[in-house]
Amino acid sequence: MASISIKNMSVSYNKGKSYVLDNLNLEVKDGEFCVFLGPSGCGKSTAMHCIAGLLHPASGEIRFGDEVMTEGSGKKKTFVPPQERNIAMVFQEYALYPNMTVRENMSFALKTKKAPKEEIEKRVNYMAQMLSIEQLLDRRPAELSGGQRQRVALGRALVRDPQVFLLDEPLGNLDAKLRDQVRYELKKIQEQLGITTIYVTHDQTEAMTMAD
Ligand code: ADP
Ligand code: MG
Repeated sequence: MASISIKNMSVSYNKGKSYVLDNLNLEVKDGEFCVFLGPSGCGKSTAMHCIAGLLHPASGEIRFGDEVMTEGSGKKKTFVPPQERNIAMVFQEYALYPNMTVRENMSFALKTKKAPKEEIEKRVNYMAQMLSIEQLLDRRPAELSGGQRQRVALGRALVRDPQVFLLDEPLGNLDAKLRDQVRYELKKIQEQLGITTIYVTHDQTEAMTMAD
């Protein structure tokens, strides 16, 4: 786990003619649940992409704990690539591997990292239990409801034991009742795991119920 610190971060998509984010400063404490709330187009996803390492800002610095992830620009820049940041991301357009079972979907990242078989099984079973999807482990995504798929996507992200969890409007395509339920479970799991989380939404109720 780690805190997230952003200092004087500015982002431009047109080489400095205009700035989507202008001098953003933010401290998220270790284990905290932070929510970005704002209208469409205000720069929420842009900030998330910078934290994830999918985008390099024009200026500013991002740290996880004491470790610099992003700093400077041009030749002098420090930039840790996304796969080395130990983050888990779930976006609205999450895609499960359709030809893999839920268990295989959830095991995939750990298998790629060559984790021992027993370890993978233990972590997948634990996360499946947390998310109440144990009975779905042998099904494929096509045999699941929207809410179940969303839970599998969360499980697949969390099973890797990431230091930072990034969620960008992850419940957008669920109906109201399911949103309530997954929201509640997500918050509970985040508290139990104590994982530093940033959650993006344009829904005020969601922001108020989720954020620390
Ligand atoms: P949000 O997630 O809050 O809806 P975004 O971060 O996606 O907002 O977008 C912020 C602004 O940056 C918007 O005006 C959007 O049009 C612009 N933008 C986002 N991505 C790009 C891109 N790849 N190229 C140019 N402009 C972009
Ligand atoms: Mg967005």
